[in-house]
Amino acid sequence: MTDSAAPDTSAVYGRHRGGQWINGAPAAGRGGAAAVTDPATGAVLAGIALASPADVDAAVAAAKAAFPGWSAAAPVERAEAVARLAAELGARAEELALVESEQAGKPIRLCREFDVPGTVDNAAFFAGAARQLEGKAAGEYSADHTSMIRRDPIGVVGSIAPWNYPLQMAGWKILPAVAAGNTVVLKPSELTPFTALMLAEAARAAGVPDGVVNIVTGAGPVAGEHLVAHPDVAMTSFTGSTAVGRRIAELAAAGPKRTHLELGGKAPFVVHDDADLDAAVRGAAAGALINTGQDCTAATRAYVQRPLYEAFVAKAAAAFDAVRLGDPRNEGTDLGPLVSHRQAERVAGFVERARGRGAVIAAGGGAPKTGWDGTDLARGAYYRPTLVTGLPQDDELVRQEVFGPVLVVLPFDTDEEGIRLANDTPYGLAASVWTGGIHRALRATREIQAGCVWVNDHIPIISEMPHGGWKASGHGKDMSAYSLEDYTQVKHVMFDLTGAVAKDWQSTVLSAADEEG
Ligand code: NAD
Repeated sequence: MTDSAAPDTSAVYGRHRGGQWINGAPAAGRGGAAAVTDPATGAVLAGIALASPADVDAAVAAAKAAFPGWSAAAPVERAEAVARLAAELGARAEELALVESEQAGKPIRLCREFDVPGTVDNAAFFAGAARQLEGKAAGEYSADHTSMIRRDPIGVVGSIAPWNYPLQMAGWKILPAVAAGNTVVLKPSELTPFTALMLAEAARAAGVPDGVVNIVTGAGPVAGEHLVAHPDVAMTSFTGSTAVGRRIAELAAAGPKRTHLELGGKAPFVVHDDADLDAAVRGAAAGALINTGQDCTAATRAYVQRPLYEAFVAKAAAAFDAVRLGDPRNEGTDLGPLVSHRQAERVAGFVERARGRGAVIAAGGGAPKTGWDGTDLARGAYYRPTLVTGLPQDDELVRQEVFGPVLVVLPFDTDEEGIRLANDTPYGLAASVWTGGIHRALRATREIQAGCVWVNDHIPIISEMPHGGWKASGHGKDMSAYSLEDYTQVKHVMFDLTGAVAKDWQSTVLSAADEEG
């Protein structure tokens, strides 16, 4: 997290000093300074110099200059560079895991087992995918013409990422875009810039040409808005809250330029009466609490069919209470702090307001003083895993994104009611359904409006499959071949086959000339 009172930017942290990566080299921003702190302790990790609009201009100019060469490179050249990037990231895995853990407060085990290997695998996937881009049609769709489809890169992509999975989000933004032949300027969250900067440094070590990957660290309304509105940026790719997504869409509309918006979520977790109760309880605890609940696909609303409801609440409360909060660098720790005290206060505000409206806090509901390992947590942005019941469907805790370790549980009676409640949200990013019945599962997966529906699980992602939302969760896909396509333009190329001076169709315009002839 940042603290503008401690802006010493001279120390190297995460192999980096300065806050910016422009045209293959570190650079110091000229837009003021901020300190990045460890949310587990409040300790300052390093100062960064923030990007000014002029720094963003320099990064966009570098990306623009790199575009002709990179976009013209043979797919195999891009594929090999991205494959080398995967290897460089793999070689830095432990260092990346430690920096990710420190800047975001994530448990080191999550970083080692999920964030870093996930990004390495993404890079390996997009290295392969770079060689698979193809137009689907080539043929004579009119007797006189041959048509074909090209997929061309778009240009400079301006990307903006959040703080919850800083390395993974940088990977999701940069990898498909550069694999498809674009160049990128990424603005990571100013709370968590270091692993994105390390990714850019790894790209240089991998031989990705200078200017293809640029990082600007800065405040959203300053560096972010300047990047989105920049006339040389052809596309905006944003991951973050729905509120900021709306602002991005507004700015991009002036282009108009293409947007790729991965926004908030409020994932339902629907448990039918024929579900394996213990599996559903474990699934709810893991799915709601991963990354301290700061996950856009996290289970946030559990709807449990009446016969299982009481037992589900009791077992889930015990599962929440058993989760180990503590020092993120301890391998045994399950959950670390939230990303900042501000975020922890926001979460506490939701829970306290719910309590005031008569909600039952079945587990958690407050900040812990001591970790499972005896660590003093008083200076960290911790909040206990919290299970809430007794709220109606229209309560703010059921409707709004909390982005913390809080699960609200509601009962339902009929299957139709369960699906209706699951869909009763502005969001549509992810959902899960828990049942032993194939027909129930198939009906639910057809009817739930979300970019991903899990059956008897909640959270797993995989490089080959798309991630992205519907409704207020945005549009566009991350990961997968669909994401690669999102970073290309479809071009129709049509060849005349006849060689004739006068084409048949031209007589609709040139009948007089044809009559004279
Ligand atoms: P946020 O919207 O506050 O910030 C995201 C990024 O936008 C940051 O880099 C921030 O500096 C920048 N920003 C802020 N204001 C801006 C502006 N006016 N113009 C341009 N850029 C601006 O989100 P956050 O708090 O960092 O992250 C949490 C949010 O991200 C949650 O809503 C979560 O659901 C969402 N998220 C979505 C996905 C997904 O794939 N759909 C993935 C991860 C996180």
